[in-house]
Amino acid sequence: MRLSKLFSRTYREAPRDEESVNAQLLVRAGFVDKTMAGSYSFLPLGVRVLRKIENIIREEMNAVDGQEVLMSMLHPKSLWKQTGGWDNIDVLFKVPSRTGKEYALGQSEEEVVTPLVMKRVLNYKDLPQAVYQIHWKFRDELRAKSGVMRGREFLMKDMYSFHADQDDFDRYYEIVKKAYFKIFNRMGLVAKSTEASGGSFTDKVSYEFMVLTDAGEDDILYCENCDYCVNVEIATLSKGDGCPKCKGVLDQAVASEAGNVFDLGQKYVKDFGFTYDDAEGNKQLPIMGCYGIGVTRLMGVAVERSHDDRGIVWHPSIAPFEAHLVGLGGGDATPLYAKLTELGVEVLFDDRDKGAGEMLADADLIGIPTRLVVSPRNEGKIEVTDRATGESQLLDEEALVAHLTK
Ligand code: ATP
Ligand code: MG
Repeated sequence: MRLSKLFSRTYREAPRDEESVNAQLLVRAGFVDKTMAGSYSFLPLGVRVLRKIENIIREEMNAVDGQEVLMSMLHPKSLWKQTGGWDNIDVLFKVPSRTGKEYALGQSEEEVVTPLVMKRVLNYKDLPQAVYQIHWKFRDELRAKSGVMRGREFLMKDMYSFHADQDDFDRYYEIVKKAYFKIFNRMGLVAKSTEASGGSFTDKVSYEFMVLTDAGEDDILYCENCDYCVNVEIATLSKGDGCPKCKGVLDQAVASEAGNVFDLGQKYVKDFGFTYDDAEGNKQLPIMGCYGIGVTRLMGVAVERSHDDRGIVWHPSIAPFEAHLVGLGGGDATPLYAKLTELGVEVLFDDRDKGAGEMLADADLIGIPTRLVVSPRNEGKIEVTDRATGESQLLDEEALVAHLTK
């Protein structure tokens, strides 16, 4: 992609109406544009990051036999009445129609997925089932000041699984928890999982996946020694206490909930009368689980976790491009751009007629992992700079190609 053609621009100053670092940098670098508090448009650079995050999630959900669907976002009131959500869920957006009817905008999709899966599952041979989507959610959030980390509309991966019995659910629950850690690791994030009560859903156990960042809205206690972690909100312990699992000591930190998994028990299957025939022909209620990940929130968390005073520092797995190419001092980078693009390297080529200072500042702001400078000063070699460490090396073209395609 040529930067001169890219549908976005950069800003030197942080927008005055953004408090969070993620929104300040994402707006400045041209990844997102704010429509109103809690609602953003994603520009080409931002879309590329979202797609990379989505694809990591998609691969790991497919690997645990999840099947991708896209469910409706506009729901009839009747479905939400049936589960009690219409009157109990404060963040539910309710939309009146000119016909006098009312609708809900999906804030989560149990109300749609349960009747949907029910139509496909007749007997025990049809179980287990796991379907997921990566789709927009709408929530009437009171506080939307954390940039893309808390939107009134946001992209979520939500998976729902249905099982013949608790044992099969428990087996699958463990598999998905492992997949979640893999997803965060692949993005360069370290998540801790807290055990919590299921909240409004059931009395069953749920797990929240927390990434440490001061921009988060959760306080957690975690063991310095083992993987014990708990949300302060529900904990009877406090900082400095001994870990209940090992000999370690508990520390406290602020974190953002990047995902969670819930054992929903039989709440929704009961609401919709979802039964299946067991091997003896008796009617049984399945066990249901749900598994969320905040895709747009993760984009914000990634920026909060990885930036410096010059801009964003993307982890290579979710960066919008692999390399940011600049020609300086009359150096012509066009042939290298053509060559790398042909080899399948994702290159953002700054072909604008701008000063070196501005082009390099924009490269730092946008935060692509590898910066390439072509300049007569480099005597035929290319200056390759790592955005994260700032380390530079001069490589000839062959070595550069090997470096980028390794
Ligand atoms: P929170 O406690 O942060 O409000 P939640 O418990 O309401 O989260 P879920 O309903 O389980 O979250 O949604 C699944 C995931 O979607 C969350 O783990 C989070 O990553 C993301 N998420 C939830 N609300 C928002 C929001 N308003 N904006 C962006 N992402 C969100
Ligand atoms: Mg919430």
